[in-house]
Amino acid sequence: MKIIAIGRNYAEHAKELNNPVPTVPVIFMKPDTAILKDNKPFYHPDFSEDIHHEIEIVLKVSKEGKHIGEKFAGSYYEEIGLGIDFTARDIQNRHKEKGLPWELAKAFDGSAPISAFVPKTKFANIYDINFKLDVSGETRQEGNTGNLLFSFESIIAFVSKYVTLKKGDLIFTGTPAGVSKVKVGDRLEGYLEGEKMLDFYVK
Ligand code: MG
Repeated sequence: MKIIAIGRNYAEHAKELNNPVPTVPVIFMKPDTAILKDNKPFYHPDFSEDIHHEIEIVLKVSKEGKHIGEKFAGSYYEEIGLGIDFTARDIQNRHKEKGLPWELAKAFDGSAPISAFVPKTKFANIYDINFKLDVSGETRQEGNTGNLLFSFESIIAFVSKYVTLKKGDLIFTGTPAGVSKVKVGDRLEGYLEGEKMLDFYVK
């Protein structure tokens, strides 16, 4: 399986990092070795002084598809969950300055903790889902899927023009504003419509 992630999909987050609001989705990928499950701890790597949390809604791809029309894209995911797109911001900034790819900042081991997945039918409106991240008891990020720049369907349509989606692939759909540095000892708690889905420590 693979992890596809969308950058800058909430305008307020693009602005907080002084990035332009994109007119087409910004895409990057993480390998399967990035996944952390079952609230296992995240071990802070020593190659970065500035690992940021990015809480995101994650789609689980339910069937294979290529060149998926936006109109049909909704049938390619049945479950959603929460994930953290851990980002080595110091490495990313150095690479951005030089116009280089982001992989070392985004794809390292453990950089993609994910929650359990729940059926999307659990939510009355997929574009009015509140989610948030608390770090050591303090709310740092709050988002609502109504503020996505690119909808889940448009992401699936766009990505599948280039890359075949397979059952079990994960799509990280972008983070709302409020990203900040994590440190050893922090407790990260992620909530989807008030239900706690993530609860793990940085070690
Ligand atoms: Mg992200």
